[in-house]
Amino acid sequence: MSQFDIVIVGSGMVGATLACMLASETDLSIAVIDTVAPLEQPSTASFDIRVSAITRASENIFKNIAVWETIKALRVSPYRDMHVWDAKGNGVLHFDSADLAEPTLGHIIENRVMQYALQQRLKTFENITVIAPACCKKMIENDEQIVLLLEDDKVITASLLVGADGSRSWVRQQANIMVRGWDYDQAALVTYVKTEKPHQEIAWQRFMPTGPLAFLPLTEGYSSIVWSTTPEHANELKNMSEAEFKKALCIASDNTLGEILSCAERGVFPLRFFAVDNYIKPNLALVGDAAHTIHPLAGQGVNLGLADAAALAQTLVDAYNSAKSIHSKPVLRRYERWRKADNLAMMVAMDGLKNMFGSELSVVRELRNTGMNMINNLPVVKNILIKQAMGLTGDLSRFASLDSHLN
Ligand SMILES: Cc1cc2nc3c(=O)[nH]c(=O)nc-3n(C[C@H](O)[C@H](O)[C@H](O)COP(=O)(O)OP(=O)(O)OC[C@H]3O[C@@H](n4cnc5c(N)ncnc54)[C@H](O)[C@@H]3O)c2cc1C
Repeated sequence: MSQFDIVIVGSGMVGATLACMLASETDLSIAVIDTVAPLEQPSTASFDIRVSAITRASENIFKNIAVWETIKALRVSPYRDMHVWDAKGNGVLHFDSADLAEPTLGHIIENRVMQYALQQRLKTFENITVIAPACCKKMIENDEQIVLLLEDDKVITASLLVGADGSRSWVRQQANIMVRGWDYDQAALVTYVKTEKPHQEIAWQRFMPTGPLAFLPLTEGYSSIVWSTTPEHANELKNMSEAEFKKALCIASDNTLGEILSCAERGVFPLRFFAVDNYIKPNLALVGDAAHTIHPLAGQGVNLGLADAAALAQTLVDAYNSAKSIHSKPVLRRYERWRKADNLAMMVAMDGLKNMFGSELSVVRELRNTGMNMINNLPVVKNILIKQAMGLTGDLSRFASLDSHLN
């Protein structure tokens, strides 16, 4: 039997970040369990088809746990501008980092790059044990601790168990924590392409009634594609020939970046919206996609998860420093209160945006186009929205803060 103070199930971007934050400020013993073995160093000869738009707040988190330099050395692609437009009208929104005297709005980063850099960092902490690949078989909760039985019959106990195991969370299911939400009648087709015209480090997003199409800038003139559409159309796009796909993409993007010169493999991901009622239970907390999953239209999913991890880490470190029990209800409640309302607000806003752009009613179309153009001409409102998109509003954990004049 192995005994730990904290066991984190899931060493994805959120779980691994949480472990690094806790290990860098405490000597609590921490185990991180994942079903998948740690990644090999990613090749730079190709891009990962899964990328994330990483906000300034998340960049700060990576800097504070000393993984940003590794991520940057592997590959990051800055975006300094966002250009959003409505395919069914003249509505345009344009966010420029120069308006805030900032060099970038954020970075597009391959998921495998972040995962690899975090996994390398995990290895440097003496108080972290990585158990991967490993499968959890059974979870037993009692008053003082949680007992995990692994498939190889190892037994692990922890005062606190954190579920960071993604949207289909095993921990959440074992703990009988209910989720509320629905499957969107949309799926995201993802790939990366080289375009005829340069992307100019702009994140381009065209809203169509079937869903948004995003071109996210990568290095060397490549762009990552996230095309949200009906599940049938997404599968059709996945299965069509490369020539047909390039043509369809060029038309759907209104030829904004010209011809599509090359295209990588294509993947399809179903899109869901849900949130849990309770982020915590005695001796247990959920973070990231295990607690909430949103539409990728504003690239906020993992950023919200990293904010959860930062809030939970600060809550636990504060408790540890004042000799409080890290798994007591008041401590865990602080984390839940901190993150639940913020996450819900962002989720409802994203769901509203998705529905607003999905509507073909002429009155809604006119209102949204007028609204977009009005906002575009109101610098004060735009600056608030930019700061929000950079993750620099709300109650930030100290792990998400650096000396930025925006804070
Ligand atoms: C098409 C698309 C585009 C997106 N773009 C963006 C974006 O631009 N910006 C953004 O912020 N977000 C984006 N997101 C959302 C983002 O990908 C997720 O929010 C993020 O991956 C969640 O991270 P996580 O660590 O919570 O979960 P995951 O990334 O799902 O990681 C979960 C980890 O747990 C492990 N695991 C699973 N089950 C078990 C188990 N039973 N036992 C042990 N380990 C287990 C997995 O192997 C994995 O390592 C996008 C999502 C999609 C679908």
